[in-house]
Amino acid sequence: MEEADAVIIGSGYGGAIPAARLAEAGMSVVVLERGPRRSTADLRQSDDPRYLQTAVDLVIGSDNVAFRTGTMMGGASIAMDGAHFRMPAKSYEVEDGAGRRLWPQAYDKDAMRPHYERAEQMLKVRQLGWDEIAKTGGLFAKMLSLVGASCERARLNYTDCLQCGFCAQGCIYDKKMHLLHTYLPVAESHGAELRAGAMVDHIEPSGSGHVAHYRRGGQSKQIFSARMIVACGGIHSPALLLRSAAWLPKLSQHLGEHFNNNGEHGFVGILPPEFDRLDRYWCYQGMDNAGMMSFHWFEEEGFTLHPGGGIEPSIFAASVDAAGDAVLPARAWGMAYKRFVESVYPHRVIAFSALGLAPGHRAVIVKDNGTPDFAPRDRSAADAYLDRLEQIVFAVGKKTGVAVVPSAPRPLAGTTSAHLLSACRMAESADHGVVGPDGQVFGYEKLYVCDASIVPCALGVNPALTISALAERIAEGIVQDG
Ligand SMILES: Cc1cc2nc3c(=O)[nH]c(=O)nc-3n(C[C@H](O)[C@H](O)[C@H](O)COP(=O)(O)OP(=O)(O)OC[C@H]3O[C@@H](n4cnc5c(N)ncnc54)[C@H](O)[C@@H]3O)c2cc1C
Ligand code: SF4
Repeated sequence: MEEADAVIIGSGYGGAIPAARLAEAGMSVVVLERGPRRSTADLRQSDDPRYLQTAVDLVIGSDNVAFRTGTMMGGASIAMDGAHFRMPAKSYEVEDGAGRRLWPQAYDKDAMRPHYERAEQMLKVRQLGWDEIAKTGGLFAKMLSLVGASCERARLNYTDCLQCGFCAQGCIYDKKMHLLHTYLPVAESHGAELRAGAMVDHIEPSGSGHVAHYRRGGQSKQIFSARMIVACGGIHSPALLLRSAAWLPKLSQHLGEHFNNNGEHGFVGILPPEFDRLDRYWCYQGMDNAGMMSFHWFEEEGFTLHPGGGIEPSIFAASVDAAGDAVLPARAWGMAYKRFVESVYPHRVIAFSALGLAPGHRAVIVKDNGTPDFAPRDRSAADAYLDRLEQIVFAVGKKTGVAVVPSAPRPLAGTTSAHLLSACRMAESADHGVVGPDGQVFGYEKLYVCDASIVPCALGVNPALTISALAERIAEGIVQDG
């Protein structure tokens, strides 16, 4: 059977970073990625759903929730919106319902600093200049300033961005420093093999390591490694381990539980006509993340707010249906809706999102055919968070004359989220989580999970940089262990 010093399943942040670091340390590394390897020339500026499905994997649950995750070499780094924030000190202290700190004790700001620094350097993360903020970001900042709330320029991995607004389709101008520009070339230059089109079905223990069973080119294949790293992202890693449960009977009962969308909840703001020089602004213009971030409510209320780029009338329709707001037409179709859209587009609509320290209320499960699905869990604490968040955000709208409506009805709040945390959460012991502080799966030596799914709780800021710092730390531990 084929063997490598390390086999890594998935090539997003959680997979690409160990691939680079382990290969640099002289190990033979094979990365198994289910999706294709695309070059910049393969990317398109298109909203055609058939194209969008090739850029991100929309995992749709049987209750119609839909989450976005990576689907090609480089994972979601290709399609993501570029916001890279370190997690604030308060996020390390999040507790569960029993008052137990969710992050393992070894994790705090000082311990994570060097790992964040390495990742920021590699990904070329920097704070945007004022001349790089999209107009939507400026209007969002103005709305907050009218209520005395602070806002700062965001930190992104974009260089010389052209503000064309197609970040989620993949940047055709190479302005986003995704993993095919950063860690993956380092991995390859040190001999790692990036194997595209390799879909791993399950893992089983074998001798002093594990075997990954995968399909490629219509054939079943196996590869053995003493070090196996599962990095399939926040939904597909728990799904892969759940499919492997017959071979890995000691997996923690927490596997799949605690799935958390980072407290994400979207809003649409309809600006009053006199709000600003609105004729200088088009909803669709500017990068998908409009370049501002507000930590104003974070310490007291545990959420941040940031503006997005343009929202399209088709997506806007979901908000109209959800809201029942007096400024909106009663229904999102027909002539009344058409006239309303004409009156607010393209100058008077902004979109923004909250991320917050909220508990999850779903579990990742697998269907009989092995594909992922979701099961509901108690959502009372999550609803309490959403109630408070909406109360504060609606008050901002009221004071500023901006009609603020949630972008989805409450049962679907956050369901288009791409922040897919905690379903293989890290903990001190198997009584509380799936992997230990070093990323090793409880009960299985040198089998690791390294991606969004091990982040033990919501962060309140965009997670990619924290996933990267965690991956740097876990990779360092694997290299030190030899
Ligand atoms: C449109 C969009 C915008 C986003 N914007 C931001 C942002 O601005 N800031 C931020 O911090 N985060 C953002 N995110 C989220 C961020 O991209 C993710 O949190 C991050 O990419 C997660 O990294 P990961 O390694 O856990 O998983 P992924 O990046 O999803 O990588 C997992 C990889 O595993 C592969 N895989 C899955 N199953 C298998 C299998 N069985 N066998 C082989 N391979 C498999 C997948 O194809 C994928 O390539 C965004 C995401 C999306 C989709
Ligand atoms: S807005 Fe900037 S980063 Fe996004 S696709 Fe356009 S040039 Fe690339």
